[in-house]
Amino acid sequence: MTKPKAAFYWCASCGGCEEAVVDLNEGLLDVAEAVDIVFWPVALDFKVRDVEALEDGELAVTFLNGGIRTSEQAAMAKLLRRKSGLMVAFGSCSHLGGVPGLANLTSRDALLDTVYRQASTVVNPEGVVPQVLTDLDGKELVLPEILDTLKTLDQVVDVDYYVPGCAPPAELVAQAVTAILEGKLPPKGSVLAPDTTLCDTCPRRDSKPADLALTEIRRIHEVEVDPARCFLEAGVLCLGMGTRSGCGERCLNANMPCNGCFGPTSRTEDQGAKLLSAVASLFSGEEESDAERLAAAVADPAGTFYRYGLPASLLRRRM
Ligand code: SF4
Ligand code: SF4
Repeated sequence: MTKPKAAFYWCASCGGCEEAVVDLNEGLLDVAEAVDIVFWPVALDFKVRDVEALEDGELAVTFLNGGIRTSEQAAMAKLLRRKSGLMVAFGSCSHLGGVPGLANLTSRDALLDTVYRQASTVVNPEGVVPQVLTDLDGKELVLPEILDTLKTLDQVVDVDYYVPGCAPPAELVAQAVTAILEGKLPPKGSVLAPDTTLCDTCPRRDSKPADLALTEIRRIHEVEVDPARCFLEAGVLCLGMGTRSGCGERCLNANMPCNGCFGPTSRTEDQGAKLLSAVASLFSGEEESDAERLAAAVADPAGTFYRYGLPASLLRRRM
């Protein structure tokens, strides 16, 4: 019997999502048993021409991780979309933009200037930055164009499903693969994870005070948090109230607060705005100066509330 064909591809991301697939361990053998992996550049030596040679729709599914930051990534996303029955945005960066999406707070030119000219570890006396076309000893070297804005996968191609997380946990990956193979899928556009918040499933939730009021904001290294108590009680920002559950409470189990990688539930349009509003509503004090003091204590507000979701937010980028 012919097995369904699958592809994995990596765009603007750290590569942790590829590790998440490997984290399936022996489960990867079950995947390889059930599907033919015909394109997975990080692990297997297939070429783009092998994808181009496929019929349109011949791939049952592509799992694509990473946001879209270069012309090559955009072209590959479009090619894989055309060749795939299902396109799955895999991991926070593909789903929401992820940490690389914070570069939307600046411009491409400013970014290249920082990375290639200003960084203290860089020696680049001629101030060279990557160019699309470079003449190299009479030969033309072509590099992908770095786009000005990082986009989520669904801002570039039609996406069927989302597997959230930085990186998606192995159990969720296994469930997603099983659901696809068995055809037991929710409506198109669904995030393949529970549609409840992390606070709903958190083992510490009973210690979250009903009348919680923040009088101080502390960073995790500034306080010793009781592993059985809600982080907010200690003044540490934990973003479980605006973050989808399904990760297995990974950070909480390591006594670290949630920083939002699973993105919002279906009832929230803009995770950062929701979190900002939720945290601000907990500020305690009589005077405006109390709120100002607490707001000033939030280190890196954009990186705190929009760490994973700036490109998918209503703001999308700095104008
Ligand atoms: S804020 Fe964090 S620690 Fe507190 S209940 Fe929610 S997820 Fe748990
Ligand atoms: S606790 Fe939050 S940041 Fe950590 S894995 Fe879960 S959703 Fe992601």
